[in-house]
This record gives sequence, structure tokens and C-alpha cells, in this order.
Amino acid sequence: MIFGPALMARLDDFARHSADRPALTRLYLTQEHRAAADQLLIWMREAGMAAHLDAAGTVVGRYEGDTPGLPALLLGSHIDTVRNAGKYDGNLGVLAAVAAVAELNRRGERLPYAIEVLGFGDEEGVRFPVTLTGSRAVAGTIAPDALAARDRDGIALGDALKEFGGDPAGLAAVARDPATVLGFVEVHIEQGPVLESRGLPLGIVTAINGASRYAVTVTGQAGHAGTVPMALRHDPLAAAAEMVLAVETAGGAEPDLVATVGRIEAKPGAVNVIPGQATFTIDLRSPRDGSRKTAAAGLLHTLAVIAARRGVALDIQPTHDAPAAHCHPGLMRQLGQAVARAGIIPHHLPSGAGHDAMALAALCPMAMLFVRCKGGISHNPAEAITVEDADLAVTVLLDFLRRFEPVSFAEGPRP
Ligand SMILES: [Zn+2]
Repeated sequence: MIFGPALMARLDDFARHSADRPALTRLYLTQEHRAAADQLLIWMREAGMAAHLDAAGTVVGRYEGDTPGLPALLLGSHIDTVRNAGKYDGNLGVLAAVAAVAELNRRGERLPYAIEVLGFGDEEGVRFPVTLTGSRAVAGTIAPDALAARDRDGIALGDALKEFGGDPAGLAAVARDPATVLGFVEVHIEQGPVLESRGLPLGIVTAINGASRYAVTVTGQAGHAGTVPMALRHDPLAAAAEMVLAVETAGGAEPDLVATVGRIEAKPGAVNVIPGQATFTIDLRSPRDGSRKTAAAGLLHTLAVIAARRGVALDIQPTHDAPAAHCHPGLMRQLGQAVARAGIIPHHLPSGAGHDAMALAALCPMAMLFVRCKGGISHNPAEAITVEDADLAVTVLLDFLRRFEPVSFAEGPRP
């Protein structure tokens, strides 16, 4: 192993930059985020890159190709975390990319294109009610009101950005000209159990799932738990229970379609009262927008049928709708070939979680390489990868970079 031990040591070291040690909490534009960014700037410069902090607080390192000023292949991920996070979500993708560039630099290798490593700051969206601020700035798709978003202490994102050393007025200038960008490749832990269950260290992502979310309200007739006979009830919670099972069935209806009820509440919520109202959420995801929409329409119809049969009123409000972001077939092929050259069966899988690559898909061809994580656990201190898998991730990324051939965005993925 050439890269694994050093990369794992660096990931351990990087986890020092936290609001609450020994836990890891590094929210966007905090002091600990700035400390991590400063450390990353040092490591990038040691790896032969020219490095700076952009206006959105993204750490950017550039390794020139065989001629200065060539279009760049972008690599990287995020260095912000959730509260009480693991060490690998996001950070692995940034530090693996730095390790690959450091090896090129050590050997004096210049490629026929430039490489830029990006350490984004706002992938998790924990501090402010916005997300992907760094990657959306690079893609030129940042929401105009993002700077006005406030954290729970009332601090505006724009003010926090200024304090951090960023430049709220300069956000628009961070957007890249597509002509200067060859693509974006993100290494990331899988955050799911698929690779582990297949005994594979790495996987090639096909798409980042699109998602539909709904808020459902079922209204029935509240009553005394002792006096209303079963046959005369219109119990919205019992109806909601049947609906939750319908959501589960819809999720299992086809491969890669997942459906979840993550929250349910009953009112008034007393042991001796038949509820008058039940509310719950639905989260539906798929790499294929068509099958997600078909499944959603079918599910909403099923819920209406259940409500009518049980004599309860049903209200369904859509709360979120995001299309899938498809990985570029040409980049997927080249990643798959690099994985195969490492002696690993190339396995393709969708990403159920969102990533910075989702934002970059609006700018350029994108692809993702997933690394197996223990038990599929993430957003948790128990998050773990092996040193062997970390080593393979850098080895495969480096091999991919050495043979990388630009792909056409135009011929790119369409659902
Ligand atoms: Zn992540």
C-alpha cells in the first residue's frame, strides 16, 4: 500500500478541526471550518498546487497541466460535516484527490490538462437553511437569496461569509466558464450497505437520485376510546397506518426506487382518545425521474382509495421535488476501466444521498466513485472505512487521471 496509511492518518488529523472534540462537528463558515480550510491550503501547496479560498469559502487548489492555463478536470468533495459526524463523509473525497495530485507532483508528472481540487463548505446544509452554496457558486446556480439565509442565532450567511474571509459580493464571479472545465469527479463514501454486501471496495455511481417529498394530513373523527364502537369510527391514525404500508409497498415495486415515512404524528395524542388527525411525511427517491413520478402518482391514488374506504379526509401537499442528476456515461466508462484495472469488478449503483456533484452536473460532465463504508453507516462517529479501501480509492483515481480523455458534455447523460 502506497497511499492508504498516510491518507487515513491525515483524515484522523483533519478531524481535529471540530466544534466539540472528540466528536466531529464542522459547520459551514465556523471557526473550525476556517481552521480546516487553512490546513487544507497547506496540504494543497505541499502537493504542488496553487491554492486559495474562493468567495464562497471553497478551498481551491490548482495543479497545472503540461502547459499553464489549460482547461481543468475538477476533483473534490466537501469539508463541512453534520453534527457529531464521521471522519470520512466529504473529507475522504477531498484528501484522496490531494493525495493523487501529490503523487503526480512527487514524480514530476504533468498531464495534458490541469487538475483542480475543490473542498466545498456547505454540502450538508446544517447551519443555514440552504445547501450546496460552494458547489452552486462554482456551477453558477446559487439562489439569489442564499446570502440572506440565517442560522439559528440569526446570523446571515452573507455576514458569516465575510467573517470567514469570503466575499459575498464576489459570489457571481466564482461561476466557472464551462469552456475551462472538463468535468467533475467526486470520490465519496457510499453511505449505504450495497458495496459491503457485495464484497466490493469501490463502485461507480450512475446517478444521484431524484426525490419527491409530501406532507400528508389525514382528518377523521376524534372520540372517546371507550365509548365509540369500532364499526362507527373514522380513525385517521389507523388509516395513516394502512397508508404507511402502502408507501413501503410502493418503494419495493421496482429496483432502486425507495420510499420512506420518516415522521408521523397523531392529535390530540392521548391514550384514551381516538385521534382526530394524523400527519406524516413521504420521501420517494429514484435515479429515474419517470419511474419516480409514475410511482408517486400511483401512490397518491392508493392513499385516496384508502381514505375514501375509511371515511377520512385526505390532504397531500408536495414539499420538495428535485430531478435526478445523471453521471456522464463517458466518465463512468473511464472510471469503470480504472476500477477493472485494479482487479475489481466494476459495479454500478445509484446514490440515494445528495452530493456536490449534483450541483456540478449543471456545469459540466460529472461522475462519482463510491468507497465501501462499514455497515453503510454515515453521519455518525461510527462511520468507518478500511485503510486498504482508502488506498484503492487513490490508486484508482490516479490511474483514471493518467488515462483521462475529455468527454463531450453535449453527448452526456439524459434520463
Ligand atoms: Zn457527503
